[in-house]
Amino acid sequence: TRASAVKKKCLVTGGAGFLGKHLVDRLLASGKYDVVVFDIRDSGDPRVNTIVGDLRDPKQVEDALAGVEVVFHCATAAPAAANTANKTLMYDVNVKGTQNIIDGCVTQSVNTLVYTSSASVVFDGKDLINADESMPYAQKPIDYYTETKILGERLVLSSNKRSGLATVALRPSGIFGEHDPLLVPLTVANAKKGKMKYIIGSGKNLMDFTYVGNVAQAHLLAADALEKGTHAKCAGKAYFITNADPQPF
Ligand code: NAD
Repeated sequence: TRASAVKKKCLVTGGAGFLGKHLVDRLLASGKYDVVVFDIRDSGDPRVNTIVGDLRDPKQVEDALAGVEVVFHCATAAPAAANTANKTLMYDVNVKGTQNIIDGCVTQSVNTLVYTSSASVVFDGKDLINADESMPYAQKPIDYYTETKILGERLVLSSNKRSGLATVALRPSGIFGEHDPLLVPLTVANAKKGKMKYIIGSGKNLMDFTYVGNVAQAHLLAADALEKGTHAKCAGKAYFITNADPQPF
């Protein structure tokens, strides 16, 4: 039909990053979206319009959101070891930057905001077995990065229904897959340095890792579900994202 041929304009923050690039691939493959990337570095992707901008600048964010219907907010400051300098950076990007996105959505009448959170928002250092979304946020987050992810998630979820904006938060755990810049390279580097000879505890602990394509797919599904607006079942809620079978596209 004619209506289905009309593409939605979406903005992917962090679209030059690991998850963001996979998300862009899937958004384009869906045929439903015109994709704009907003990132502090150039995505180098000729298929999309990239706005090189900084989430910490409210005006740049607001301008980037003109005419946008759906925002996928995937950007984060790199979760490196926290020192005072990057604590400020982390807070400014992950918390104030998220507030800038929300305010920009409201000003520019964006309908839908999908926020990439993290499963670590509920991790207090104790085993989590069959944990679900009814768990409270960690009282003592494992690091400052996670603290800012909690604050960002709270901002996003409490903004559901603000001027008709529908929001959802997705919480992947560790992400792996093609072009992974961190997890596997770091594991290999540690192994080469001889740092992986020892097992702490029984060695039977489990950790959830999710394929990056599945995490990206979850973002598309969340945006589809939010087409119903602020009364969609998932609106204003957070969801853990974990692995089922790899989702082809
Ligand atoms: P990434 O570092 O590969 O990508 C983040 C992107 O954000 C980068 O391209 C970076 O340039 C951009 N960015 C940083 N500061 C910015 C700023 N001030 N303005 C605009 N853009 C800025 O990270 P990723 O692994 O793709 O993570 C994507 C999302 O998934 C993040 O929200 C992260 O918290 C979440 N997450 C990641 C993992 C994981 O294992 N990688 C696990 C759980 C949650």
